[in-house]
Amino acid sequence: ATPLALAVATGQAAQRGIFIKSEHTLEQCTTVDTIVLDKTGTLTEGTMSLLDTEGDAGAVRLAAILEAESTHPIAQALSAAYSAAHRPNLATTEVHETAGRGITGCVGPHRVTVGRPDWIQSTATCSDRLRDAVHRAATEGHTPVAVAVDGTVRAVCTLGDRLRPEVPALVQSWRDAGHRVLILSGDHPSVVQHVADRLNLPEDDARGHVSPADKRAAVESLRNEGHTVAMVGDGVNDAGALQQADIGIAVDGGATPSLVAADVFLTQQGLAPLDALFAGSAHVMRVIK
Ligand code: ADP
Ligand code: MG
Repeated sequence: ATPLALAVATGQAAQRGIFIKSEHTLEQCTTVDTIVLDKTGTLTEGTMSLLDTEGDAGAVRLAAILEAESTHPIAQALSAAYSAAHRPNLATTEVHETAGRGITGCVGPHRVTVGRPDWIQSTATCSDRLRDAVHRAATEGHTPVAVAVDGTVRAVCTLGDRLRPEVPALVQSWRDAGHRVLILSGDHPSVVQHVADRLNLPEDDARGHVSPADKRAAVESLRNEGHTVAMVGDGVNDAGALQQADIGIAVDGGATPSLVAADVFLTQQGLAPLDALFAGSAHVMRVIK
């Protein structure tokens, strides 16, 4: 394609809600054969709601105070569920968030950790009743989050999120075009499987409990196998994989590191503009060549 044609196409993409940092990217879109998708905040709307809590209500309130320090969709749901008026007025210190795993910090006199149940259970003791709650939530397709206070799991929160309405048709159209579509998520494998079932993806192509480093490694190994990989994500946990992909795409409202790492970012809500990216660029290339 000529530089002029690429510049025109890049401008057209921008009007459709796709901001492309380099014109070269558009040419690469025509060779993509593998599309890797994050789940939470990418395939789903990322506005999670607190569906249920099991265990100690005081622990959940401490979790809500701690989560005010995070911008993760889970954190937003937890802190929204307890308005400031219903939270004890305790100072939060020594906060440390681990992308794809959770957050820990001191809330008043307590050490509080909120996050992936298997991550928390590796350092905190957990009753059978709360283990069951984790299992139940995930089997129903909801996201379980554990809350540990001073080294013991005290509560399990169940969070729900909705698939973006455009996603099933979009994924189907990519698969019809011969692309392989994979989901890599930090969420519980059962939750990821629920989404995969709704998208008719093969079991092996939907993986849960994937750490940020493993997301990146998975994209790298696909590229080493000779594939041209587009990766779509929204989180801090996706930044490495977005950078590693041939084309990294950050969704609208994504965390800053994802926007920095990406080659493309969406300026309209949802994934609908991506339809135009893969169909559109191929179309443009055909016309100019
Ligand atoms: P995805 O890869 O689907 O976008 P994330 O990597 O963002 O998911 O999150 C993976 C898991 O890490 C979540 O399901 C949750 O258990 C845990 N997690 C990450 N950040 C937080 C947080 N701030 N509070 C609670 N849990 C968190
Ligand atoms: Mg995400």
